[in-house]
Amino acid sequence: MRISLEDYGIHNDMEDVVELAIYQVLSEDRSACDCPQCHVDMKSLMLNRLTPQYRAVPKGEESRTEIRLNDLERDLFNKVVAESYRALAKVKGEPRHDTNRTFLVNSIEEVVVVALQDILRQEKRELDYDSLSKVMAHVLNSLEPRYTTTHKGHVFSRTVEIDPAYLAKIYSSIYNALTASSIS
Ligand SMILES: [Zn+2]
Repeated sequence: MRISLEDYGIHNDMEDVVELAIYQVLSEDRSACDCPQCHVDMKSLMLNRLTPQYRAVPKGEESRTEIRLNDLERDLFNKVVAESYRALAKVKGEPRHDTNRTFLVNSIEEVVVVALQDILRQEKRELDYDSLSKVMAHVLNSLEPRYTTTHKGHVFSRTVEIDPAYLAKIYSSIYNALTASSIS
């Protein structure tokens, strides 16, 4: 089967957490730039250093979650706050206000989709929306995220350079997800 972005629904709750942390840190530092480019650059830096929390989103449902920073577990809260200051310092040091790459994407998602398509074809299996969403969320949670910013409309514009060992890890993670009891 050919898998497109409309065939499954997933959301990384960490994106909402990071968003809140960025608003907080920007409100404390009036000298910081809050243009869309600096904002998304901070978000990308932070998301690549925090453990992703993908979950399947049922068709037609709102993907964002209502999260309050103060509700986070203490260790995670401290890590998120520390990462937001780190990202702010980095972006302030090397701002790229004018590149207009304000669309954020976890580039690993594309690689997982291609690998999953390949496996399903070999196994002669088809997955429905919910199962596909569960597999994608499961696999992406087991891999280090590689968020990158891109121009809007250029989702997955460039295939990520993947070394064979990493690709093996992706395949192994997909097989694990497919044999998990929760996937029909
Ligand atoms: Zn800026």
